[in-house]
Amino acid sequence: MAAKNDKGNNELSLLMDQTVVGRRGIIMPASDVPVQPLPDPGLLRENLDLPEVSQPQVVRYFTQLSQLNYSIDTHFYPLGSCTMKYNPKINDVVAAIPGMSYLHPKTPEKFSQGALKVMYRLQSYLSEVTGMSATSLASMAGAQGELAGVLMIRAYHERNGDSHRKLMLIPDSAHGTNPASAAMGGFAVKAIPSDSNGNMDLGALKELVGSDLAGIMLTLPSTLGLFETDIVEICDVVHKAGGLVYGDGANMNAILGQLKLGDLGFDVVHINLHKTFSTPHGGGGPGAGPVSVAERLVPFLPLPTVVEKVDQDVAQYSLVKSDHSIGRLGAFHGNFGVLIRAYAYIRSLGADGLRQISRDAVINANYLLARLKESYDVSYDRLCMHEVVLSARRQKKNGVRGLDIAKRLLDYGFHAPTMYFPLIVDEALMVEPTESESKETLDAFIDAMLAIATESENIPETVRGAPYSTPVSRLDEAKAAREPDLRWQSR
Ligand SMILES: *Cc1c(COP(=O)(O)O)cnc(C)c1O
Repeated sequence: MAAKNDKGNNELSLLMDQTVVGRRGIIMPASDVPVQPLPDPGLLRENLDLPEVSQPQVVRYFTQLSQLNYSIDTHFYPLGSCTMKYNPKINDVVAAIPGMSYLHPKTPEKFSQGALKVMYRLQSYLSEVTGMSATSLASMAGAQGELAGVLMIRAYHERNGDSHRKLMLIPDSAHGTNPASAAMGGFAVKAIPSDSNGNMDLGALKELVGSDLAGIMLTLPSTLGLFETDIVEICDVVHKAGGLVYGDGANMNAILGQLKLGDLGFDVVHINLHKTFSTPHGGGGPGAGPVSVAERLVPFLPLPTVVEKVDQDVAQYSLVKSDHSIGRLGAFHGNFGVLIRAYAYIRSLGADGLRQISRDAVINANYLLARLKESYDVSYDRLCMHEVVLSARRQKKNGVRGLDIAKRLLDYGFHAPTMYFPLIVDEALMVEPTESESKETLDAFIDAMLAIATESENIPETVRGAPYSTPVSRLDEAKAAREPDLRWQSR
């Protein structure tokens, strides 16, 4: 039951603590099997701490517990870089069609033509969206797509007799997974600084490229939520030095249908289907991170890919292997349920619908920027793309940090934005509104942010002590992660 604890929080009283000795929630039926002798008494306990509660108490306890979950289906979720958009329920319905959800991955091709056709079409749609020659759906997360991409770049250079190309350049605004993937792929990583406009420093890039260059990994728009205005020149500089261009396409929500990375000169791109193409995600999954590649990387695509052969007007679909493939990234054929959702999402929206997503996502972020930039610092005074990176620099002078603002937002009923990322922005608060939020919701969020900015000036200690309305108040974050207290113990 929700009750106020001594700090005034709405705490759920644990089922154990509701115990009334002798209260029962179930009536055991009469035994219809012969009574068996009890095991050795040394193996038996006299008492067992089990809650003694009624059925309605159990039902209410678990229902209330489930309502503590914060989700996109209950609230606005402005977590930057994560694209927590509304996922239309029709996609779940399609993924649950028994022919899709019960299909065994080892079903022979001739009995799984429908599923293979869906995969084939999705490959084609993603190649179209990215402007690339071919796509593999094998990888099951954005970061795994990155690994696939860098392994393809490595295989490409090795096959050309260029195994000395071991340098991967990554801007300092990159997502943390990029340098990790490059290192896992066997590359040495060097960072390229950003200039005062938030673009990659082109001069620094030119100094770093040389005969050991394998490639560059960049995110477009960058994790500053900005469009890299020199992108064509960047691709050109890297290609002239013999390197390949990797695109982290996790931010596809910003450019969907507006421009194709392939047209700009990218050689490989991964897409986070769970972000842009509508799979409920969070806390580590589920996901899919397909990779789309330009012609020269097609032979190296991860397994499997699906091909179509038309024979006397009948299309046949089959899984194929290429001799130069970097191999498999996991068992079977990728995260099929996520692929189905993406397929259904693309089919139900169509090309115009996809284009509208990026328009609305970008305008929503710019609306937040325009209304919040009086009260919060922004590092770069220019139009943003699908997300806006604010800084709590100004509030820090009053002792209020980004973390405190994020915690205070919980009291106003909003999920915290992404904090302290990207690393190059002091006290960063990264807000991604997505296309699916209404103006009313954005206004309510803005009002909360403005109220917190005022509180930070007038009553900073209140902000520093937040949150007050959640079941658990301010935690020692390091201790909570290292020594989680997950088990009820009798007192
Ligand atoms: C989310 C994200 C990733 C990583 O994707 P996962 O599916 O979480 O592995 C990589 N790059 C960027 C820019 C992202 O936003």
